[in-house]
Amino acid sequence: MSETIFDKIIRQQLPAEIVYEDEAVLAFRDISPQAPIHVLVIPRQKVEHLEAFAKEDAATVGRFFQKVAAIAQKLGLSTTGYRVVLNQGNHGGQTVAYLHAHILGGREMQWPPG
Ligand code: AMP
Repeated sequence: MSETIFDKIIRQQLPAEIVYEDEAVLAFRDISPQAPIHVLVIPRQKVEHLEAFAKEDAATVGRFFQKVAAIAQKLGLSTTGYRVVLNQGNHGGQTVAYLHAHILGGREMQWPPG
């Protein structure tokens, strides 16, 4: 697996505005926010994308998504709603090969995505 900017953020070699962290995940603000609230959630145990993550045990995968929901709630987005995005591969628009869930909120989202 090649080194990514998120590896550097995990190792604290690159600064990030961290909004939540625990033994399993790190959540930090996107450097180029696409909504008033735009936070990325990554697992500390690196995995490149959703398909690789899906090969891990169901409890690990499930806990990650429980944390994504809990972080969105902590960000105050439960009442208004929000969007969670996972991009995979070129057509999915994935630019960083380290699994990350985008939490986007603070405005009404459009559909379909571009
Ligand atoms: P994706 O296109 O799904 O791979 O998303 C990668 C995201 O990482 C983009 O939304 C970028 O704006 C964001 N990003 C890139 N570099 C940084 C950084 N140093 N700190 C925070 N977010 C970043």
